[in-house]
Amino acid sequence: MRPVEDKHRHQGLRHKLVDQLKKAGISDENVLQAIAQVPRHFFLDSAFAEIAYENRSFPIGEGQTISHPYTVAYQTQLLSIQKYERVLEVGTGSAYQAVVLATLGAQVYTIERQRKLFDSNKQFEWLQKQPGIKFFYGDGYQGLPTFAPFDKILITAAAPQIPFALLEQLRPGGWMVVPVGEGNIQQMKKITKLSDGATREEIFDEFSFVPMLTGKES
Ligand code: SAH
Repeated sequence: MRPVEDKHRHQGLRHKLVDQLKKAGISDENVLQAIAQVPRHFFLDSAFAEIAYENRSFPIGEGQTISHPYTVAYQTQLLSIQKYERVLEVGTGSAYQAVVLATLGAQVYTIERQRKLFDSNKQFEWLQKQPGIKFFYGDGYQGLPTFAPFDKILITAAAPQIPFALLEQLRPGGWMVVPVGEGNIQQMKKITKLSDGATREEIFDEFSFVPMLTGKES
C-alpha cells in the first residue's frame, strides 16, 4: 500500500531533511526546494511512511532501493538542471529521483530493467499524473536512441565502467553523471561531451549504489 496524503507533519519532516542536506554541503537552492516539495513517503510502502524522511536508503522490492536523499540531492546538483532540458535517467526504481528532476522543470525519460518495478510505477496513479516524465521498460545500457540527443544523462546504479555508448546520445556541451566502480564503492563522475566530441572527466565523492546490470528482467 502506498501513502497518498501529504500532511503538515510530512512537510515539516521534509524541511528538517533539507536542513540536514544543507549541513552536509548541498547548496543549490533549486535542488533543496525540489526536495522540500516532493513527498518522498509516497514512493515507499506505507510501512516506511514514518521514517521516509530519514537520510537513508530503503528497500523498494526486487532487491532494489530508493537512494539516500543526500545521494539524490548530490547527483541532481551535479546535473545542474535548466528548465525544459531533456534528461535520460537509467534506473527508475521508485521514480523519486525522476520526480525531483521533473520538479526542476526537466523533461525526463527514465528507464527501468525490472518489469515489476516498471509495472508498479505504471499502477501508481499520482505518479502517472506528474507532468514531464516518460517511463520505459528496457536496458539502460542501450539508452533511448529514438529520443536522443539528451542534454543530460543520469545513471542511478553503479556502472562497472563509464558507459561510453550512452555518450553518443548526449548533445555536445551536455554531461553525464554516473557512479563508476566494480566493488561496493563507486566514484561519482561527471563526463562532459565537448563540442568537438571529445570528453572531459571530473571525479567527485564516493558512494555505494546497487549495480547497473545488463539486459531486462521480466
Ligand atoms: N533512481 C532510483 C534509484 C533506484 S536504484 C530512485 O529514485 O528510487 C537503481 C535502479 O536501477 C534499480 O531499480 C535497478 O533495477 C535499475 N537498473 C540497474 N541496471 C539497469 C539497467 N541496465 N537499465 C535500467 N535500469 C537498471
